[in-house]
Amino acid sequence: MNGVALVAMPWAAPETPSIQIGLLTAVLTKAEVPVTAHSLHLEAASFFVERGVALECVEAVAHQWWCVGLGEWIFAPTGSDRACDDAEYLRYLAQQRVPDEIVDAALRMRQLVPKFLRQSADDILMHAPRVVGFTTTFAQTLPSLALAAHLKTVRPEVTVVLGGANCDGALGQALLNTYEIVDFVIQGRAEALLPRLCRAVLVNRPPAVEPGLLSREMTSTSVQTPHAVADWFQPIYDEYYDRLDRSPLRDALLPRTRLVLETARGCWWGERHHCTFCGLNGTSMTFKAAPADQVLADITALAARYRRTEFDVVDNILDPAFFSNVLPELARRRNEFDYRFFWEVKANLSPEQIRLLRDAGVQRIQPGIESLSTRILRLMRKGITALENVKLLVFAAADDLMVTWNIIYGIPGETEDDYLAMAEMIPSLIHLKPPGLVRLQVQRFSPYFDNPPAHGLRLLGPAPYYRHLHAVDEARLCELAYAFEHEYISGYDPERAVAPLRRALEQWDRSWSPGKHHSLRYERGPGYLRLRERRLGFRSRDILLDRLEAELYLSCRTVTTPAAAAAVVKRVCDIQLGVDEVRAFFAELSEGRLLLREGDRYLALALPMNPDAAPPPISAPKWKVSCAPAH
Ligand code: SF4
Repeated sequence: MNGVALVAMPWAAPETPSIQIGLLTAVLTKAEVPVTAHSLHLEAASFFVERGVALECVEAVAHQWWCVGLGEWIFAPTGSDRACDDAEYLRYLAQQRVPDEIVDAALRMRQLVPKFLRQSADDILMHAPRVVGFTTTFAQTLPSLALAAHLKTVRPEVTVVLGGANCDGALGQALLNTYEIVDFVIQGRAEALLPRLCRAVLVNRPPAVEPGLLSREMTSTSVQTPHAVADWFQPIYDEYYDRLDRSPLRDALLPRTRLVLETARGCWWGERHHCTFCGLNGTSMTFKAAPADQVLADITALAARYRRTEFDVVDNILDPAFFSNVLPELARRRNEFDYRFFWEVKANLSPEQIRLLRDAGVQRIQPGIESLSTRILRLMRKGITALENVKLLVFAAADDLMVTWNIIYGIPGETEDDYLAMAEMIPSLIHLKPPGLVRLQVQRFSPYFDNPPAHGLRLLGPAPYYRHLHAVDEARLCELAYAFEHEYISGYDPERAVAPLRRALEQWDRSWSPGKHHSLRYERGPGYLRLRERRLGFRSRDILLDRLEAELYLSCRTVTTPAAAAAVVKRVCDIQLGVDEVRAFFAELSEGRLLLREGDRYLALALPMNPDAAPPPISAPKWKVSCAPAH
């Protein structure tokens, strides 16, 4: 036996290659360690669909129902090894309102798992690997353990290595302590460590004790912290695209497949202000971006090699430096190539930066908005106000960027009044894309998890689905869990508080569709500005503003005060307006929901009629200043 097999199990998204497997394949190839990649997340989708499970159900398990542990349960042990009675788990799924067709599909897939594991083991063992490495993020832990157990039964001499986010911190040690089939756990980045570990195993030498490497023998001496950030590698996805070419799902998935790229690690915001709900591990928070030259070279090379132009960037947060090095160059290349990107960004973007994203080919963003209450945003340490969040939604809509965003409720310290105020705001925003509504879940590594009483929380134990996954006692289950149940020491009931907002969002959701023609836009003419009110629930009308009024309205595109708006008019029109006069005008527009007001600050809600109208200039340094925590 020789070489290394790298495995991505369900429930990674079948329509994209695994970045972890792609990067580590490149790392081992460079280190001249024989390696084969196995995109079994894609293979599983093909396997289940060929046996009568609808692709929509497979994707729903992968993308949506991880929150009840469904994907992991499909691969959880059956028979005497099972953690819990299946009927009990099915009752839990019913309580969580998982649709019947998803539950039926899950039961069918659970029946098919033994056959899938046999097929997968054959797929791997035909290459006779000495080491089999599994990447574990999201719901990949139990599928990986299930296949590892099967491999060990067939070939006990195989060395099983687990890595990935699900091995961070105490989780890695708990996996090692619970599952004897696991020989090594790698914590943190594996780029530097994996080649050394594999070389040692391949020549039957005990691997050296080093930070980030756990094994039963080395537990007492190993330093359990991730090693330093390694070099940047270009992922190799040959095996994924070859497998996709042979897959019965080729026609369904190929039009949707995206290349996956990592251009930065960690979070520059979280390094200074860890958002209170965020479960990003403290040690993986350290921010480091790839050199701009490498990012641009990787995009070109991957697009050329795999004949794809759409990219999912997996960074937690866009590097601000990319606005001056990577994005302008991508914008320039748009004359030649039709690259499209998804990127996670901080919501404090200036209109000019949003325009640059658009020009660079970024079509989808996830800005981490999380709330439309400045008070709650402060509790979360998001460093932004509600008006700035809405400003991002307005400018993203104007530039046709698809925004994925959520409102998280149940934040300790929030009140019913916060949600009444948000519900009152919603009808003004009905021309923008609505959010999802998500209840707070306490995640391991978050400030809420680290010190619950300091935030008025009491942890009740692991999320209920964990006890259907692992046959261990409560103490060990706590070590294995990432998500936890909680209650509020004050007895606060978030469901009651959020009810008015929930109703308003349901209404927004029903009314919004990108194809529907309901909008609020402004049309500029010589000496005037016309507001065209076409939002659902509003009387359709045009409002004509004269030159001074137009300047005042346009000055609110970037969140302004009456005093600052009066100063703009003085500079542009050389007319001195009284601040109270401006405030009265803004109050009138706010009454008509044409402006959004918070305290003495106002934001214009209308989108430009002309999508290419120049965005209001705010220079880049201002962006950094606006990232300071809200006061
Ligand atoms: S929530 Fe986002 S911005 Fe906040 S610390 Fe986590 S990754 Fe960073």
